[in-house]
Amino acid sequence: MMRSLYVYNTLSRDRELFEPETPPFVGMYVCGPTVYGEGHLGHARPAVTFDLIYRYLLHLGYRVRYVRNITDVGHLENDADEGEDKIAKKARLEQVEPMEVAQRYTNSYRENMRALNVLSPGIEPLASGHIPEQIAYVERILEAGYAYVVDGSVYFDVEKYNADHPYGILSGRRIDELQTSTRQLDGQDEKRSSLDFALWKKASPEHIMRWKSPWSDGFPGWHMECTAMGTKYLGETFDIHGGGMDLLFPHHEAEIAQAVAATGKKPVKYWLHNNMITINGQKMGKSLGNFITLNEFFSGEHKSLTQAYDPMVIRFFILQAHYRSTLDFTNEALQAAGKGLKRLFEGVNTLKNLSHTGKASFDAAQLEAQCHQAMCDDFNSPVALAHLFDGLRYINQVKDGKATIDQHTLDHLRTIYNTFLHEIFGLTSEESGNPDVLNRVMETLINLRNDARKNKDFATSDKIRDELAAAGIVMKDSKEGTTWQFEG
Ligand code: ZN
Repeated sequence: MMRSLYVYNTLSRDRELFEPETPPFVGMYVCGPTVYGEGHLGHARPAVTFDLIYRYLLHLGYRVRYVRNITDVGHLENDADEGEDKIAKKARLEQVEPMEVAQRYTNSYRENMRALNVLSPGIEPLASGHIPEQIAYVERILEAGYAYVVDGSVYFDVEKYNADHPYGILSGRRIDELQTSTRQLDGQDEKRSSLDFALWKKASPEHIMRWKSPWSDGFPGWHMECTAMGTKYLGETFDIHGGGMDLLFPHHEAEIAQAVAATGKKPVKYWLHNNMITINGQKMGKSLGNFITLNEFFSGEHKSLTQAYDPMVIRFFILQAHYRSTLDFTNEALQAAGKGLKRLFEGVNTLKNLSHTGKASFDAAQLEAQCHQAMCDDFNSPVALAHLFDGLRYINQVKDGKATIDQHTLDHLRTIYNTFLHEIFGLTSEESGNPDVLNRVMETLINLRNDARKNKDFATSDKIRDELAAAGIVMKDSKEGTTWQFEG
């Protein structure tokens, strides 16, 4: 039986029992980066947050189709419908092809993600690779009557839509408030209302990234790619859509409106948003001089940093806060996180080397239940980590001879720390190597050994077992199959 998982849904502003449409399958879409610059902290938080969620769903036994897009076209400078394309601008400044910019920063983003031990999504679609899908989607919205064409550009008609469906359900904004807070249209504007947003933009003559469409040579509006690609890979309604809170409005609000306009259905069951980060209490921004890239964190080469930080410390620091809380980066806080992480890994090491000494005075099953309880409460990683730190106290008492432990408790604790630290929190230490790779290698060896035994090739199956034992790895056979662990 699967555990009851509760998630906070931005749409209902409430904690809800997680019930995917067709369990055990889960469709999850997360807005990925716009690839026009080096990866920074603003990229790390959503990536680690949704990696945690992905890993925990997998751990619970769900089969997750995880889509995280790469925005390589259509994201204009001011996040609205004017200004230069962010990637095209960088390409112009550096005198390279826009796709060279997109490729370079996609590569660099993936390297950053690997360093942070963020698992690759199952599908990583590019906006530029899904132009026909986006054009087809715009056509559906036009047919439904919720968009209009002006001089080769197509705009979503927010007022018309709002007459039939409430606009603003995700962000809680009301259209009359939005109308007074947004600037008045100047006579030059093609839009009927300043709330309307572009579904397709006609390219100006100097605009390089352009495609043919029924309306003009142009490019899709930024909000369109996620709707078109989410629908293509996850269907017209899917379970989870995630991203940073900064995307809530207008991006995700527009995604809902586009989908409801085209299909009449709400596209997403659970909207999940991570909160933002600050640096020394300030928003991060190029103009503020506190814009720090991930590579600068990893190398320590930035005037605001007193040292280099291991990617695992950054990851651990992010996990130490609940994803819906704000998170302030300071050198002091990162150093404290580094110490905490070191203590955890030392505990795991101690656990590896302990042997049973007597009756256990600790309830490992309770620790495990508490950690899952925290994770099932909207992925509360800081509370789960606090429980793991509590468990360390007992482990250290056993090490110091102040408490005793039996074999069963020892095995159970090893499993708990391995599962939570490595599998769910994705934390690796140099000593432990990359547990995902190790798990995969072990799975292969276990399968080889089982095949050998089936074929009565006991020489081979014994050899695999003995050589692993010599390397400190013990295999255990039971009715449920074969498991492995490091020798105590
Ligand atoms: Zn998006």
